[in-house]
Amino acid sequence: MSGLRVLVGCKRVIDYAVKVRVKPDKTGVVTEGVKHSMNPFDEIAVEEAVRLKEKKIASELLAVSCGPSQCQETLRTALAMGVDKAIHVEIGAKEFETMQPIHVSKILAKIAQEEKSDLVILGKQAIDDDCNQTGQMTAAILDWPQATFASKVEKNNGGLDVTREVDGGLETIKVKLPAVVTSDLRLNEPRYATLPNIMKAKKKPLTKKSAADYGVDLTPRMEQISVEDPPVREAGSKVESVEELLAKLKEKGLV
Ligand code: AMP
Repeated sequence: MSGLRVLVGCKRVIDYAVKVRVKPDKTGVVTEGVKHSMNPFDEIAVEEAVRLKEKKIASELLAVSCGPSQCQETLRTALAMGVDKAIHVEIGAKEFETMQPIHVSKILAKIAQEEKSDLVILGKQAIDDDCNQTGQMTAAILDWPQATFASKVEKNNGGLDVTREVDGGLETIKVKLPAVVTSDLRLNEPRYATLPNIMKAKKKPLTKKSAADYGVDLTPRMEQISVEDPPVREAGSKVESVEELLAKLKEKGLV
């Protein structure tokens, strides 16, 4: 059997180290002039795909990003890490604001079919919307098995053995290919792109498409009512003794 054709999702999100600020009118968060990067779980997805290629299990790696024009920078990072080619599905800033996992899933599923992908690797969640839905929905649309929250992926004869991080510990499942896998934090440690690889990545193919090219209607299915900061934590107080603590707790009706 020839190597696997792998599709990885690369969402451009506000950098994990940025302190996110809510817009005064509560319609969302401030994105202008804010540092953006590849979603950290997607870096892990890219790294896993690159390792599969290095082990000669995968033959061709495709990265896809749906979003505004700056997503091309995110895709260049994926190409510099070792991905072979990329598709940028350009979504205007306005539509991107209301774009939801169902839309991305439909686009990714269509590309996976067109590209004859054997494996789709996505992050377990995007750190901006924390949806944790795209992998599951993509698998459902394609009617492929899914292995979410992966912390280890190994090829077996007919498919993959995937170790999953579940509440009580680790669960190992077998999935047949084609399949969708979503990466958890401990799957691997992503490499940094080296300067020569960043230069080489500039020559790798990056195709621009639109949602309409894949027949996907971006009309929002949900309305976001308001975005608010978490409540500010009230200052605590110190007590001198257990007796004082108990007295205070009684005062507040807590014991
Ligand atoms: P979510 O369901 O929004 O938490 O996203 C889960 C994963 O789906 C992300 O880690 C990405 O791998 C993929 N994904 C979500 N949105 C996009 C996007 N706009 N472009 C490419 N991949 C995406």
